[in-house]
Amino acid sequence: MVKSEKEADIMKRLAESDYLTGLPNRRGLYEYYEALPRNQNVHAMFIDVDNFKRVNDLHGHSVGDTLLIQIARLVKEHTQGFASRIGGDEYVVLFDESYNREQLEQIARKMLDSMQTADFRKDILSMVSLSIGIVMSQSTALNLDDILFMCDAAMYQAKNNGKNCYAVYEAFDKKIEIRRNIEMEMKGALERGEFQVYLQPKVNMVSSAFCGAEALSRWLHPVEGLRTPDAYIPVFEKNGFIVKLDLYMFEEVCRLKASWRGECYEHIPISVNMSRLHLYDMAFAETLLAIANKYEIPPQELEIEITESVFIKDNNELVNMTNKLREKGFLVSIDDFGSGFSALNLLKDIPVNTIKLDKSFLQSSSNDVRGRKVIKNVIAMCRDLKLDVVSEGIETQEQIDFITSCGCQIAQGFFYAKPLTLSDFIVFAEEYLANTLESYVFRLNGDLKSEDGSLEGIISGEGLHYEAGIIAGRKSLYFPGGDTEQNTVHIPPKAIVNDSFTVSMWLKPKVNHQWVSALYIKFESGFCSIMPLAWEGNSDFRIRDSKEVNGWYDVSGCQLRENEWVHYVISYNARTERAVAFVNGEVVGLLDNVPTNRYVKWIILGGDVFQPSFIGNICELVIYNEPKDYDFVQALHQSYVQTEGFNAFKLGE
Ligand code: C2E
Ligand code: CA
Ligand code: CA
Repeated sequence: MVKSEKEADIMKRLAESDYLTGLPNRRGLYEYYEALPRNQNVHAMFIDVDNFKRVNDLHGHSVGDTLLIQIARLVKEHTQGFASRIGGDEYVVLFDESYNREQLEQIARKMLDSMQTADFRKDILSMVSLSIGIVMSQSTALNLDDILFMCDAAMYQAKNNGKNCYAVYEAFDKKIEIRRNIEMEMKGALERGEFQVYLQPKVNMVSSAFCGAEALSRWLHPVEGLRTPDAYIPVFEKNGFIVKLDLYMFEEVCRLKASWRGECYEHIPISVNMSRLHLYDMAFAETLLAIANKYEIPPQELEIEITESVFIKDNNELVNMTNKLREKGFLVSIDDFGSGFSALNLLKDIPVNTIKLDKSFLQSSSNDVRGRKVIKNVIAMCRDLKLDVVSEGIETQEQIDFITSCGCQIAQGFFYAKPLTLSDFIVFAEEYLANTLESYVFRLNGDLKSEDGSLEGIISGEGLHYEAGIIAGRKSLYFPGGDTEQNTVHIPPKAIVNDSFTVSMWLKPKVNHQWVSALYIKFESGFCSIMPLAWEGNSDFRIRDSKEVNGWYDVSGCQLRENEWVHYVISYNARTERAVAFVNGEVVGLLDNVPTNRYVKWIILGGDVFQPSFIGNICELVIYNEPKDYDFVQALHQSYVQTEGFNAFKLGE
């Protein structure tokens, strides 16, 4: 009898204490609380270890365990109340009424200080700290859960205030009240389908083409109506529920995409926000892939957005996660770039696809000269790293003018559309999807207008006139030659707005005049030029990058002859940094690692600023704002050759 009473006692103690630290565990805490008289007041303190997860991840669990034991010791030593460990890195201490606020705050401060000086590995101590929440004078008539809720809320306040500090719960705090309601409702809300996917389109500002969308959550609350993310995302981030919401949103997006099969917007990539909490989930990428597979959505059409603030705190986790997501085929973007202290050197290590410039970054920086330079250079750097750049929060035409002049083409903002319900989104998609990047056809068949009438070249000099072209009945423009920059045609520079472009033209040099340009494009930091007869009768597509002293790139062509028509096409791909020259539909020269020139200043037909001007004929000039491949150029060439009346290659013409 005695023995079994003792045994029962031991069993009880074991069940109520934490094997690691010897402190009472959660159950022990509840037992203790239940045993208190119902008519007194208690104070409670919630202690959470900041960045503990990191210690475990970096140094292994046994080091993490020793740290927890050390902290338990510290808590016990400093508090002298009823100390317990209720979860991994969470401790709760109950104090009786005899303590006043001053004393409790002092205890908290002492604990924070002693974390710096504790007898433990300094490299580890420097990573961790404590966040402490205190709640004063609560009646034991309350449920312990209610008291824990309050000191937990205060602890989160401390975390919000930058960690390594304490906060005292203030009663009647409206924010905490709201948070409490949200926490009580959230699970049911997810099950009842109260969370909905809104989609905000991404649009190419230059072509107005619709090129993607971001999924943003909305909570359709049955009583309060529509709740926007700022009301609940911060709460979910603190209590971890965000993990569930993110996966729910991801699955909803996959479901939507699956329902779009056969529609014109079927393959549009959709991005989903993912909280930093996923970074620690080793199976995260697999989980997402399994969901995508279930709905048969290619991962290449799904983009994961991770906010920039994460990039500074959890560097290693982020690189690992990004690598895994990319291995599985997902697109990855850095969200809210420029909203914090962007770690620029991280950009070189993280294999993301896209940078999303935060709206506050644009707003705060676009008003003064230095700010504008920062934006321009950040964009230029991203593009050199072959990253897509999306500008968030674009609301006005002025912003579009400025940001496109910086070389960013994709926008997400109210100017184009707010986050839309599914049905509005489909209307938008159908309207905008048809837009594509412009191309311009200048036939030079008697005038200098582009075929769509939107652009017109201007003659500079004299002696230019129309002669026979490559097709019977159509003309070509004759350039009489002359000094540098004389007797040429200026095409409006806005004909080329993209870093990647293709120019196709037919030309016939009349005299063998070496190094003369038939087409010259001047960029802010260099130029490119087509020289039909550069050296020893060979044509040359030359690109100059004046950012580098030795930045000369020659894409050699084949031999051309005077008085013979030739179809010359050049194409530059900024993404692959490849420049190609085609003559009569065939590749004649190709060069890799050619740096990108941006911001076209002039496009001159028939001469440049170095050499005398071109003598000969030009017609059928076409400018495309995208790179074109061999098949396209072949087909284009054939389309001329097969036009009725084509006579450029006929002898004796
Ligand atoms: P975010 O990812 O930066 O999303 C863009 C936010 O900017 C959206 O706010 C959008 O409505 C707003 N916005 C877009 N264009 C403009 C504009 O031209 N002007 C202005 N003033 N605002 C613009 P929203 O929908 O309220 O979402 C706020 C944040 O909540 C999001 O910021 C995102 O970080 C977070 N969020 C929303 N849904 C989810 C979710 O399902 N999971 C996670 N983890 N976070 C989410
Ligand atoms: Ca986002
Ligand atoms: Ca953002």
